[in-house]
Amino acid sequence: MRFQGRVALVTGGSRGIGKATALKLAGEGATVAIHYSRSTAKAEEVCEQIRDLGQHAIPVQADIADREAVNSMVTAVTEALGTIDLLVNNAGAVGDMVFDELTPEHWDRIIAVNLTGPFNVIWAVKPGMVAQQFGRIVNVSSIAALAVRPDQLPYAAAKAGVISLTKSCCGPLARHNIRINSVAPGAIATDMLNEVSPEMKEQLRSTTPLGRLGEPEEMADVIAFLLSEESSYMTGSTVIASGGRILIP
Ligand code: NAP
Repeated sequence: MRFQGRVALVTGGSRGIGKATALKLAGEGATVAIHYSRSTAKAEEVCEQIRDLGQHAIPVQADIADREAVNSMVTAVTEALGTIDLLVNNAGAVGDMVFDELTPEHWDRIIAVNLTGPFNVIWAVKPGMVAQQFGRIVNVSSIAALAVRPDQLPYAAAKAGVISLTKSCCGPLARHNIRINSVAPGAIATDMLNEVSPEMKEQLRSTTPLGRLGEPEEMADVIAFLLSEESSYMTGSTVIASGGRILIP
């Protein structure tokens, strides 16, 4: 029970990687706030599943790009559950758009959700973590950050920004016993991947050395490791979990 007595906030906990992570943390003793944007029923369902595990969970709604909404959400979680110990900055949206058709408005929105969003949540939870001199944060990036992606320009740039955010926060936060790391998943079998054509899905699978898509639970295992004391000497790091699809030196 690595997270006994801990309070966790999982953004985008209603579906996919966030849902698997929330269930994993609850299964190991954490009380969990399940954040969502529009999927009220799905977030409620995850909370029910967590209650079935004998843990407490509450759903919380906010557009991650809306700073005031994020601040109110963190206040609500803190009042209901206590200071947030573990943050999983997972909410995101891919929003492919052909390079020649990319609009400034689309750029603004995808950057707001995938880069400003994680910043908003870190800034909202940071005072509580600093006050208690404890915090563990995992930001969910993507291998899109490490590849050439003309049709995912704002998404790839935002996810590269998440890696930079992780690195730049690590020193100042380390002074307060707050560790911050990120994970860069490859192609994972979630709703997000259902947005691509079956042909593209097959191409993703066949170009992955392990020969299959990843499961959300496999990302949850990496995130839980980074939140746990098993990664006690890691901060500012990015773990690539891509079935070998992207390799860096
Ligand atoms: P998913 O199944 O599509 O779920 C996305 C989650 O993010 C949902 O809970 C959704 O809430 C929430 N969300 C989306 N836009 C939001 C907004 N504006 N404000 C608040 N919440 C919002 O996605 P996933 O595949 O699990 O992805 C989770 C993370 O992993 C994302 O950051 C994604 O970029 C990253 N990732 C995924 C893959 C992959 O292949 N799946 C690969 C690399 C990285 P609602 O349910 O309320 O809509």
